Amino acid sequence: MSETLCVKWTITANEHPQPLLHCRRCCSTQPFRTGGKMRVNANGKRIDAWLIYRCTACDGTWNRPVLERRPVGSIEPEILSKLMANDAELVAQIASDAEDLRRHAPRLKETAEIRVTKSVLSGNMSRPRTLHIVLAVPQPVAPRLDRLLAEELSLSRNRIHALAKAWALTVAKANTARALRKPVREGTELTIRLPVAGAEWIAHSAVGSCGA
Ligand SMILES: [Zn+2]
Repeated sequence: MSETLCVKWTITANEHPQPLLHCRRCCSTQPFRTGGKMRVNANGKRIDAWLIYRCTACDGTWNRPVLERRPVGSIEPEILSKLMANDAELVAQIASDAEDLRRHAPRLKETAEIRVTKSVLSGNMSRPRTLHIVLAVPQPVAPRLDRLLAEELSLSRNRIHALAKAWALTVAKANTARALRKPVREGTELTIRLPVAGAEWIAHSAVGSCGA
């Protein structure tokens, strides 16, 4: 039986990614937020569609291209009517696509409002000696690694740093003390040698509600 419990935490923002753009109205760089409205412009046989964002400081608008000069015939009628109707599901799908958004706005606002989805990669929860955590961070999120660990493992931040000092917590390919104070990063892997007392409790927190 493996004594190592391997888990994956996927950290996503609790809100749609917000582009950081220079606002022409208030002349400053601001995060822009979408209210879920689309603008569709059919010009003869071509169609353009944008998702409308507003400056969080002054309400100035920015139109995020969704379709650019596309032949009307190349778009499924169902998608077209959804675009026209600001279909909430389609809007959410577009708004949450951070990779596509980066094509138009290279800088996205890092958010502290996060959601952590946990899954077990291998091992089991009965008396694990070691906990291995792999972080997937597909969106720009801002929480520091020590805060994330404290929150998600139900330990104090002092305890997290004490474990690091005692070499019971190590971040792979990084200076652990430094990595703990930095925002979480895609692909970070860390290992915690679990204290005998409390091992199962910590393992339970690491796995969350996904069970094992
Ligand atoms: Zn503005």
